[in-house]
Amino acid sequence: CAVMGVYGHPEAANLAYLGLYALQHRGQESTGIVTADGDGFHVEVGMGRVNDFFNEVRLAHLQGPLAIGHNRYSTTGSSSLRNVQPLAVDYARGSLAIAHNGNLVNAQRVRSELEAHGSIFRSTSDTEVVLHLIAQSQAVNLVDCVIEALRQVQGAYSLLVMGREELFAVRDPYGFRPLCIGQFENGGYVVASETCALDLIEATYVRDVLPGELIRFSADGVQSYFPFGSVASRQCVLELIYFARTDSDVFSHNVYLMRKAFGARLAREAPAQADVVIPVPDGGIPAALGYAEAVGIPFDTGLTRNHYVGRTFIEPQQSIRNFGVKIKLNANRSCLEGKRVVVVDDSIVRGTTSKKVVQMIRQAGAKEVHMRISSPPTTHPCVYGIDTPTSEELIASSHSIDEIRDYLQADSLAYLSHEGMMRMAYANEQGYCSACFTGDYPIPMPQHEDGVQLP
Ligand code: 5GP
Ligand code: SF4
Repeated sequence: CAVMGVYGHPEAANLAYLGLYALQHRGQESTGIVTADGDGFHVEVGMGRVNDFFNEVRLAHLQGPLAIGHNRYSTTGSSSLRNVQPLAVDYARGSLAIAHNGNLVNAQRVRSELEAHGSIFRSTSDTEVVLHLIAQSQAVNLVDCVIEALRQVQGAYSLLVMGREELFAVRDPYGFRPLCIGQFENGGYVVASETCALDLIEATYVRDVLPGELIRFSADGVQSYFPFGSVASRQCVLELIYFARTDSDVFSHNVYLMRKAFGARLAREAPAQADVVIPVPDGGIPAALGYAEAVGIPFDTGLTRNHYVGRTFIEPQQSIRNFGVKIKLNANRSCLEGKRVVVVDDSIVRGTTSKKVVQMIRQAGAKEVHMRISSPPTTHPCVYGIDTPTSEELIASSHSIDEIRDYLQADSLAYLSHEGMMRMAYANEQGYCSACFTGDYPIPMPQHEDGVQLP
């Protein structure tokens, strides 16, 4: 998901809208903005992409100098209108709105406890428990209510909470998901999932919200708190590999340069005798460039992507996935015919894309197809807010690299090693989560929604 907050700008809603537009890659299922004008909230939330849902009339409704916005793709809770964020409520002490990127691992248990005491939930999303916990807090100030609420949840959250006149931006102590702060020329602030949103609205990057940090923007200025005790951070390495946009800086790394470095490292670990290096667009492009540069083989665009089809990953249903792969990519015969081809992608999940890609490249006349993946085998599902399928569907959870090569019908297959990935990403000594490659989950999953112990 994507979150976007604006504090202290007369055009808060328009800026939030543009930011969400830049963050569309983080979720395409639903979108929404809530603004505060000092008296109350204005809410516009709905299904679909930013540009499909918002129009001039909807944006004109959204008055006030404070705004929070959200793009959603479902990791918990079904994809329906009642789960659309930001969630906004009126309660005894005012109004509250919340926008969340991440996944709370103990939400089901907290929810059951709240329901046992009479709470009525209107959504099935994990985020709503935080609203209930804030509303039930007896603390005097909203900041203390937010802190008290978040002390009761575990998991991944890059979170925005808006009151009538104040905005809170929080990252969980592990810092799984990114969150950064920018400033406008008029002195107002923006908080966004990724820096590409700041670039579009010409805000100056100030710094990241740190793991475990809560920041309050209000008439009192900007205050920073670290209320959750400290743990070694475990930022999501997959943001660098796959999820964040290439033009963003995430966890103090330029995503594009990091992906090129992963590709170059992969080339050193698993070189191939070939005539051309091609990416699976768009995700594989920087890694393929890094690979090609490192081995000294020409880079070419051997596959064309139809940009009018969403990332297949974000479509929730398997039936659409297969269809998506087929209409998404096509091979360019002119640069493949008669050649030994290295094809680079950022990951293999189910194997559907890679199998189709290898087949297409062969049909276009390639002599050999060598598949290279700029991350280690994805063996475990993510429980912190990236929608990877269950273990059974992850091809690498039950198949060796050799078996996967066989399934893909590739002449060779190699993945970036875990050590290689970490070496590249650790450049600035920050700790990463890489559980989907290792099974080493920083926070154990108490119980999955349907009662199944995960992983
Ligand atoms: P597959 O077809 O193997 O299920 O999906 C792999 C392709 O989809 C890759 O091109 C990758 O960029 C993208 N992708 C789809 N879902 C995911 C996911 O959950 N995690 C990652 N890392 N990549 C995904
Ligand atoms: Fe990121 Fe994988 Fe950890 Fe999930 S399990 S937070 S996708 S590194």
